[in-house]
Amino acid sequence: MPDLPIRPAVLASPDYPFSAVTAPIKLDQNESFEDFPAELKDLALERLRQLPWHRYTDLNADALCNAVARHDGWAPEGTVVTTGSNVLIALLIQLSAMGGGRVLTVKPNFALYGLDARLLGAELTEVPLREDQSVDFDALIAALGPASDPAARGVIYLPRPHAPTGSLCSLGDVERLALASQGWLLVIDEAYHHFMDSEDARALARRHPHVVLLRTLSKAWGLAGLRMGYALTSDGVARQLRKLVPPFGVSVLQTVCTLVALEHPGYVQARVAHTLRERERLFLALQRHPSWQPMPSHANFLLVRTPDAAQAHAQLLAGGVLVRRQDSLPGLHGCLRVTVGTTEENDAFLRAAGLGGAQ
Ligand SMILES: *Cc1c(COP(=O)(O)O)cnc(C)c1O
Repeated sequence: MPDLPIRPAVLASPDYPFSAVTAPIKLDQNESFEDFPAELKDLALERLRQLPWHRYTDLNADALCNAVARHDGWAPEGTVVTTGSNVLIALLIQLSAMGGGRVLTVKPNFALYGLDARLLGAELTEVPLREDQSVDFDALIAALGPASDPAARGVIYLPRPHAPTGSLCSLGDVERLALASQGWLLVIDEAYHHFMDSEDARALARRHPHVVLLRTLSKAWGLAGLRMGYALTSDGVARQLRKLVPPFGVSVLQTVCTLVALEHPGYVQARVAHTLRERERLFLALQRHPSWQPMPSHANFLLVRTPDAAQAHAQLLAGGVLVRRQDSLPGLHGCLRVTVGTTEENDAFLRAAGLGGAQ
């Protein structure tokens, strides 16, 4: 490497842990099992045709913010949209913890929390999940340290439902953490909230101005390729966060497609119902596997413990089914993560797992 002005934290950082593998049946990225509806694509394309592409979009994507806020029952002043919620994960560290502040999360976790913390020079604390994959709130609260020292604070990342285990913590526990974490930003990543059978954290976030909810169109909405996510938070946090969002960052394409989706949200509910039915079917089938064990899940995927993740992954791939290995994550030895797909895809998965694909 020639002598370039690149920060040591960047040089020392690994690439994002993902390598594309092609297989006929793709159950490795927790995407929707079905594309965005064709008639809504047509509608969006027709609108796009009529809009000027040579003009910049509005500075803070106000129309989009308003539509998202209306859909989610939130104040537009507290709504911040960006090109994927992963952008917000980095921006919230920039807002609060960059260069010496702290990032506190659980482990295992979504890889970006730790990667971004390291890239941005924050001090990372990861609190292990308990043996049963539940969040250890006592340990999280203990890890906050003394509230008096502003330099020892920053941002807490809590995925709910948890990724990649699919477990769900109670709102009572989150409330306890919210009360204990005054002076921090408490970010609840709700990427998979459509798939849980529990209240979401909006009421809690209304009571605590330091709470930020992250949501995405990449999962239940079937729009991972569009790149659209948003934060719901207090007006005060949103106002500061907006300063870090690149101006005119949301394209006319992203704006129009998201507006069309939000105007026709009906398709999401039927898809979620399918995913919940199929998740239950997969879970019950996997419980009959002689050596694999599924974790109960509140998301659109299942974590499965096997005796040998490399062997199980290769066996599934030989059957045409691609899943994601998670066995390098702490506490997840032998684990694979499989996205709930279409009925046919799930049958193929069960067949490849040696379960015959029955019912
Ligand atoms: C998929 C996912 C996201 C969404 O990321 P986007 O950038 O919006 O696609 C965020 N958090 C978790 C835990 C996820 O699994």
